[in-house]
Amino acid sequence: MALKIHDYEKVVGPEKIAELERLAEPLRGLSLLHVNSTLVGGGVAEMLHSLVPLFNELGIKTRWEVIKGSPLFFRTTKSIHNALQGNGMEIAPEMLERYREINRRNAEILDLNADIVVIHDPQPLPLIEGRPPGRSRWIWRCHIDISHPAKEIWDFLKGYIERYDMVILSMPEFAKYLPIPQDIIPPSIDPLSEKNRELQAKKIEEVYAKHGVPRDKPILLQVSRFDPFKDPIGVIEAYELVKREVDCRLVFAGGIASDDPESSEVLERVRRRVQGNSSIHLIAPQGEPLPALEINALQRGADIIIQKSLKEGFALTVTEAMWKGKPVIGTAVGGIKLQVIDGVTGFLVRSIEEVAERITFLLHNPDLAQEMGEMGWEQVRRNFLITRHLRDYLRLFSIITPR
Ligand code: UDP
Repeated sequence: MALKIHDYEKVVGPEKIAELERLAEPLRGLSLLHVNSTLVGGGVAEMLHSLVPLFNELGIKTRWEVIKGSPLFFRTTKSIHNALQGNGMEIAPEMLERYREINRRNAEILDLNADIVVIHDPQPLPLIEGRPPGRSRWIWRCHIDISHPAKEIWDFLKGYIERYDMVILSMPEFAKYLPIPQDIIPPSIDPLSEKNRELQAKKIEEVYAKHGVPRDKPILLQVSRFDPFKDPIGVIEAYELVKREVDCRLVFAGGIASDDPESSEVLERVRRRVQGNSSIHLIAPQGEPLPALEINALQRGADIIIQKSLKEGFALTVTEAMWKGKPVIGTAVGGIKLQVIDGVTGFLVRSIEEVAERITFLLHNPDLAQEMGEMGWEQVRRNFLITRHLRDYLRLFSIITPR
C-alpha cells in the first residue's frame, strides 16, 4: 500500500508534517522532473522511489525518468564516476563522444518539460543540451564526492555543469569553484519503506535461515554494491584480524546495479577470496539487487555494521544501519563523516587494523555497542529522514521557482 505523508507523523511528529504542507502550499501545481540512470540499485533510485510519490501527494506534479544507455555508455559513465572520485584513469575521446551522443538521443526521447528539472549524477548530466526553451530551472544534483576529481574529466564536465542554474551537493566539503549557486542537501532514508520499517524477530530469523547464516555467533555485516570503492577485500581482511580475537561471522550482502558494469568482476574477486571459509557469508544474487526486506532483516539481525568505503558520497547503508539501532564502524570519508559521530554512534576509522580494533572492542563491550546504536537511531531521526529531505527541497523550490 502506498505510504501517505501523514503516516510519517508517528515517526517525526505532526509539526514536521504540518511544516511540509505549509511549505508545499504555495508550490501546488508546480511540475518537477527527476532524471537518473537506473530504476533499481544504488542510493539515488532508493530515494526517488520514496520521494516521488510524496512530492505528488504534497501537490507537486512529479515525474521520474530513467535514461537508457548501452553497455559501453555505462562503462564510460562508471569511468567518469571513478575519475570524479579521484581515480585518475584515462577516458578515450570516443567514449566521451558516445556519452554525449547517448544523452542527445535520450534528450530527444524523454519529455524534459517541467518547471524544475533535477538531473541526478554524471550519467545524464549532458541532457542540459536538450533543455527546452522557457523559464524552467535546471538543477544538477551530484551525489558523489567531487572534492578531488581528476582534472581532465572535471574540465570536460564543467562545460555542462555551468549551463545549469544550480548544483546540489551532499556536504559542504564537496563544494567547487563554479559560477552558479551551490546548495547542500544531505540524502535521507524512508523510515517506513520495506528497507527500513520495523520487522518481527521471526522475519529476521527466516531471512538469515534462507541465506544459510547461523546466528550462533556475533554477526558483522557490510551491505554494498560490489564496487572497488566499497573495499570488500578490506572488509574481509579486517574480519580475519577480528577473528583471531573473537569468534564471529561476516556477512557481505549486495547485488549488482544495472548501471554498474564493474560489479560482476569485483564480486568474482570476493567470491574467490572467501571460498572455503564457512564463517564468511556472501549473499549476492546475480543479476538483480537483494530484496529490500531482506536487507532490512540482515541489518536488524547484525551486531555491528561496517562501511569500509574508500570514497563515499553519502552511504545510505550507514543511515539504514543506524536507523536499526546498530553501531557503525565506518571509514572517515565523505558522507560517512557527516553521519557517524565518532565514539558516540560508532567509530570513524582510517585503516584495516583500526576497523578490526574497534570491532573487537565493541564485541567485548556489548552494552556500549547497544548504547551507540541507540544514539545512531536518534541521529538519523533528527537529521537523515525523508521528511527533512522533502523540507529542504521545498524550501529550495520556493526560492528558485520561476514566476
Ligand atoms: N542496496 C540494495 N541492494 C544491494 C546493495 C545495496 O538495495 O544489493 C541499497 C542499500 O541498502 C542502500 C543503497 O542501495 O539503500 C546504496 O546506497 P549508498 O548510498 O550506500 O551507496 P551507492 O550504492 O549509492 O554508492
